[in-house]
Amino acid sequence: MQAITKLFLIFVVFFAPSTDLWAAIDEVQEEIVVISDVRYPVPPPWQGHKLDAPSLTVPPLMKIPVNLTENESKLYLLKDACLALIAMADEAEKENVHFQIDSSYRSSWYQKKIFMRMMREGREFEDIIRYVAPPGYSEHALGTVVDFTPSNWRFAGTSTYTWLQMHAKKYGFFETLPQYPKRKTPWEAWHWQYLGIQD
Ligand SMILES: [Zn+2]
Repeated sequence: MQAITKLFLIFVVFFAPSTDLWAAIDEVQEEIVVISDVRYPVPPPWQGHKLDAPSLTVPPLMKIPVNLTENESKLYLLKDACLALIAMADEAEKENVHFQIDSSYRSSWYQKKIFMRMMREGREFEDIIRYVAPPGYSEHALGTVVDFTPSNWRFAGTSTYTWLQMHAKKYGFFETLPQYPKRKTPWEAWHWQYLGIQD
């Protein structure tokens, strides 16, 4: 084999990144998400706000007691967030406020599946992204976020919402997609994040 060919092969084997790696580099530089092999640019308000979410497994995740989940579904949170949620639910219960959770930890892979399902139902990416965070941008991937039921616009009119506004911060939970956000994320009154007790 000629020396030049050998050098070329060494370059290919050791230095030329795989297509996956190129795609990963592109995703970081251009802020694109890939859904079913199609590349979409990430628009505002998500642009520039990709989360550095850990890839979580059980443990450190803890199962939310099923009496607090809709249809007794199996939902998970990081332990501290889960314990704070249980304590908060206990106090709410004493005041006759019963709340339920219909979503908590979601990996970015799961977030991608939400897009795939909605697109199969005929929705456009540009439409979905107006109110669903793209994979890699959802706070649900942090393992500290819950969605209370009903997880839609009606929630803002419920006694649970009023109760949370008054008491949740005592347990370290905060509304992180509020009505008048600094950046223009959609208002999700049902979406609360455990940030720990703040001074
Ligand atoms: Zn949410």
